[in-house]
Amino acid sequence: GSRFQVVEQGPPIEVFQINKLFIEDTFKNKVNLSVGAYRDETGKPWVLPVVQKMEKQMAADDTLLHEYLPVLGLEQFTKVSVSMLLGEDSPAIADGRAFGVQTLSGTGGLRVGSEFLNKHLKYTTFYYSNPTWENHHLVFVNSGFTQPRTYRYWDAKNRAIDFAGMLEDLKNAPENSVIILHACAHNPTGIDPTQEQWEKIADVMEERKLFPFFDSAYQGFASGDLDRDAWAVRYFVKRGFELVCAQSYAKNFGLYNERVGNLALVVADAALVPALRSQLTWIVRGSYSNPPAHGARVVANVLADSKLFDEWRDHIKFMSSRVIQMREALRAELIKLGTPGNWDHIVKQIGLFSYTGLTPRQAEYLIQQHHIYLLRSGRINICGLNPGNVAYVAAAIHDAITK
Ligand code: PMP
Repeated sequence: GSRFQVVEQGPPIEVFQINKLFIEDTFKNKVNLSVGAYRDETGKPWVLPVVQKMEKQMAADDTLLHEYLPVLGLEQFTKVSVSMLLGEDSPAIADGRAFGVQTLSGTGGLRVGSEFLNKHLKYTTFYYSNPTWENHHLVFVNSGFTQPRTYRYWDAKNRAIDFAGMLEDLKNAPENSVIILHACAHNPTGIDPTQEQWEKIADVMEERKLFPFFDSAYQGFASGDLDRDAWAVRYFVKRGFELVCAQSYAKNFGLYNERVGNLALVVADAALVPALRSQLTWIVRGSYSNPPAHGARVVANVLADSKLFDEWRDHIKFMSSRVIQMREALRAELIKLGTPGNWDHIVKQIGLFSYTGLTPRQAEYLIQQHHIYLLRSGRINICGLNPGNVAYVAAAIHDAITK
């Protein structure tokens, strides 16, 4: 016998399972609307040209070494990341009370941040939106948070935010609860609070002494504008909140597998920073010791060079515009077919995803009958659409709804 016989098979991770089914499908016109990654207008992954250019430059640079990075990462990288998030002219940066820790993409930022809050501030309760990105719960629980709670977010009937429900749940949250907030392009619903709604959220969080943990996985990718996508975070900082924010470069730089991220921290007083940095150092030291360099170098070098920065800004504009065009194309096709229902939400939602309102049964039907792969929640990755397949997808949705 083996000592490992005690180990039971765990459940599959839905999004990767569906992606695998897609890869194994031999149907010529199959469509992948599952994994949240950008695809170009021919359905292919896209390496950003500015990334490719920088990687070639780095490959030719024989002064670059493979020495360890500092535990908290490449300083130039964390600096440009915090400044991209808070804005170059942020008073919090000028005061020296905002800083960053390089992390293993957005997930790593969530992990380091939550572990830090649990260990050092003794926070145990966290709230995430219902629904949210499926990994928030697990990351926080693994970091030691013992009280997972949800706040209402999605009003399925109106395909909008249940704002009254959200505020009520926040009002009832115990002091020092950590509230996970999507900085922009809420995953999976694609619906963000308006600026007036953010103001009310901040009012309640201030009054109830709740702690904001922003998750910024799509800055620049949502609207094409870095400043607009960071509005909520900057607003909370301006209001005087102390907060943390996990930033990911997976989507906006297309650096998914390089695991490039930053945990930004904003505190009330610069004098607190050295102690925080030292304890964050110990958290990273005890989990992976220090981060990888390649992707962070690419991002830091691009953001530090104004010409390359502009080139990158064009790339994110291009990607976000393509997503917006595909939203419009899908809606137009469904209207043309006379598919029952109102499809305005597809163009109102922003970011990579649309919460279509398709039921789990309809999603299953699309997979089985039409080789179109999506999550059972009805979430589709809009980037999986292109001029060559959008009519096919719309016809299949029409069939799933009217059959
Ligand atoms: N948060 C949200 C809301 C996301 O959608 C994602 C990516 N799917 C992440 C965090 C983290 O992704 P990564 O670790 O690849 O940066």
